[in-house]
Amino acid sequence: MAAIVILPFILYAVIMVVIRWIDVLRKPPYLSFTTMEYKNWKLRWDYKPTKDYEYYEIVKIRPVCHKCGCELTKISAGSYEGLYCPSCEDRWYELFDKYNAVRKVIENKIENRIFQA
Ligand SMILES: [Zn+2]
Repeated sequence: MAAIVILPFILYAVIMVVIRWIDVLRKPPYLSFTTMEYKNWKLRWDYKPTKDYEYYEIVKIRPVCHKCGCELTKISAGSYEGLYCPSCEDRWYELFDKYNAVRKVIENKIENRIFQA
């Protein structure tokens, strides 16, 4: 008798868990949007899910080489500071520091669904 009473609750709990799994497995389409041109920079970033997979945070925004896509390395010599491609040895005579601005641009493109994945 008790089993009949609690069965609907167990069924409900199982259905809710399955719905949650489907939600987590169905990743949002913007997760493949990971590169963008911004002013004279080519940028790449990653996404990190929150613990409950409700939201994906934009992380590790970094400038990459226009020619080969390799992540750039900071170099300095005397008063000169810039970025350097360890792969094709191209140089940029400035540092990239527009992380907050770029994050806002990325978030805006995602919100307005104007990204090319
Ligand atoms: Zn390169």
